[in-house]
Amino acid sequence: MSLKIAVMPGDGIGIEITAEAVKILQHYKRSGRLDVEMDEAPVGGAGYDAAGKPLPDETLALAKASDAILFGAIGGPEYDSLARELRPEKGLLGLRAELDLFANLRPAILYPQLADASSLKPEIVAGLDIMIVRELTGGIYFGQPRGIETDASGERKGFNTLVYKEGEVDRISRVAFDIAMKRDKRLCSVDKANVLEVSELWREVVINAGKDYPEVELSHMYVDNAAMQLVKWPKQFDVMVTKNMFGDILSDCAAMLTGSIGMLPSASLDADSKGMYEPIHGSAPDIAGKGVANPLATILSVAMMLRYSLDHAELADEIDVAVGRVLDKGLRTPDIMAEGCKEVGTIEMGEAVLAEL
Ligand code: NAD
Repeated sequence: MSLKIAVMPGDGIGIEITAEAVKILQHYKRSGRLDVEMDEAPVGGAGYDAAGKPLPDETLALAKASDAILFGAIGGPEYDSLARELRPEKGLLGLRAELDLFANLRPAILYPQLADASSLKPEIVAGLDIMIVRELTGGIYFGQPRGIETDASGERKGFNTLVYKEGEVDRISRVAFDIAMKRDKRLCSVDKANVLEVSELWREVVINAGKDYPEVELSHMYVDNAAMQLVKWPKQFDVMVTKNMFGDILSDCAAMLTGSIGMLPSASLDADSKGMYEPIHGSAPDIAGKGVANPLATILSVAMMLRYSLDHAELADEIDVAVGRVLDKGLRTPDIMAEGCKEVGTIEMGEAVLAEL
């Protein structure tokens, strides 16, 4: 039976970069190496335009019926004044919640060819290869109660709740341990156990899960120190696991160590490794429609999809190598442009990767 992929370009540069990533999947389909069917659906602002809400019913149904989802990016200034539940972000959050995509995998890899693009010294970041595993469907972004209230004196207060159940911590730590087993077998769990009870429980559950992974060297770090260490000596880390909000912040920090937001893919997985794959960046309204967006993060997201959901690691490896070769040839989109290199646009970069394949 064919594998089913839902393609959701979304808004802004999402449309341009997804088109290049789809070409890679079509190439494998044409050559008979991947039995795949692709269907496209609107999400985010495009969902609102098409059906009056950021996650139209048909889009959700397609996502549920698919083996994997290729997601571009959502958002744009034209949607900023909509009511909160109609905003593009709700489309993304809705998919994560509806599909129970609780494990967010965010690699921060620095291709040696781009070592100069980082704001840190090349010797600190060259060869960087970290995997951050972020819990994605729990924690303070979802905890109840939440809101803004006015007390008797007329003063307003805003509040959110940081809550994790043991089961939620256990399943995300096992995803992280499994990934560590396929890498350098080192896992650092990031928490704030010195201050937060929820972190105390988190640490206890991670340690317990670790008993099933005796080969993995488990360490713990407070989140403030982790932020510092990521900038000081990032190569000390192999796999990191952390709760939703800490992961949100740390993974952006790790991403910037690599110089460009346009290079980094991500995966969000459910308990059966069904997943949604997307670049970590947004819809970049400032460059949308100009044909200059870097499509490599989305192309590398396809590689992650092949590796984690579609069981075609050999094709994923090929894509990784092809991207390296294109960089070796000196082709660069403006976001990663350097002296002596050749500047290319979105389509040219996509075609160059295809040519290498
Ligand atoms: P952004 O990631 O869209 O852009 C930040 C900067 O990085 C911009 O200067 C942009 O031009 C550049 N950039 C991003 N991707 C690039 C690429 N592939 N190639 C070259 N340059 C690239 O973040 P933002 O500007 O804060 O947000 C813009 C919109 O995207 C907002 O509506 C926001 O809500 C949304 N957003 C969506 C997602 C998502 O879809 N997952 C994530 C973040 C932000």
